[in-house]
Amino acid sequence: MSANHHYKVLIVGSGPAGLTAALYAARADLAPLVLEGLQPGGQLTITTDVENYPGFPDGIMGPELVDLMRQQAQRFGATCKFETVTEVDLSERPFAVTSDSGQYTCDALIIATGASARLLDIESETRLMGHGVSACATCDGFFFRDKELVVVGGGDSAMEEGTYLTKFASKVTIVHRRDEFRASKIMLKRAQDNDKIDFVVNATVEEILQADDELAVRGVLLKDTQTNQTRDFACEGVFMAIGHIPNSQLFEGALAMNDQGYILTDPDSTATAIPGVFACGDVQDSVYRQAVTAAGTGCMAAIEAERFLAH
Ligand code: NAP
Repeated sequence: MSANHHYKVLIVGSGPAGLTAALYAARADLAPLVLEGLQPGGQLTITTDVENYPGFPDGIMGPELVDLMRQQAQRFGATCKFETVTEVDLSERPFAVTSDSGQYTCDALIIATGASARLLDIESETRLMGHGVSACATCDGFFFRDKELVVVGGGDSAMEEGTYLTKFASKVTIVHRRDEFRASKIMLKRAQDNDKIDFVVNATVEEILQADDELAVRGVLLKDTQTNQTRDFACEGVFMAIGHIPNSQLFEGALAMNDQGYILTDPDSTATAIPGVFACGDVQDSVYRQAVTAAGTGCMAAIEAERFLAH
């Protein structure tokens, strides 16, 4: 375990919120430490083309965008470590932060832990995860060449993942529990115009069906939400794209959260109820959840931390 280290600003998380906070804190001469977490770069690293981040008229790959953000923060003096925070003590200042390989203290803490894929939470999904069930098309799509797939969800993620998977799959069926879609019009239309994509609406996945002789997927059990009738639907892979859950578990009991687990901050601010603790990005934003808004609130958090430390 490394020695105890004190930082003026410590940032937990390394998506666009954390890395933008790092850039601004570094440029304010605060030499921040970024503890990058289990998924360095956050959700952008499991996405493909980012077409809506300003400044990239031809789009940019998610992992490349994150690398550029990290390089930019490091150029001004941010330190990034591939460590995952396991415990925080916010009861007094300096705050104490324990990671899987170090112990740190800090005068200001910026929480940018993001959000993770929501799952259906059924036994067959757990059993077959990594064996035909996935929550990341960009990570696992390659393994499903010429196979028939189901994507569950009706938001932008489902449209994006479904469209991406048609690069590999012979057919993709998007299963959505309603007949109206939360997805933006442009992403929905792109999926609807894709010859390899079919839609099944007003249906839920009740079970994921395992092949007889191996740990693999042979289909899903669909339930029609209007008639309650169930039927087997054959497929060889299932991708979950049903939204995200904020990664706020570390701060339960210490910080106020809404009923979905999003950390509550003051209006028009990233300040939490504890002076010196700021929350930004998808762990705090249940409304917009975009890379660019995460970067924006990351910038706010660094400016607010700088002002807090100056006083
Ligand atoms: P989302 O917009 O919250 O959509 C989640 C979808 O999953 C909804 O259609 C929801 O159905 C469905 N769902 C939720 N729980 C379910 C369950 N237990 N069983 C079955 N279906 C369930 O999440 P998202 O698609 O991940 O998008 C999150 C945010 O990221 C959005 O702001 C989105 O715009 C953004 N995003 C943007 C891009 C892009 O622009 N390139 C790509 C991906 C995501 P209901 O509609 O019935 O609630």
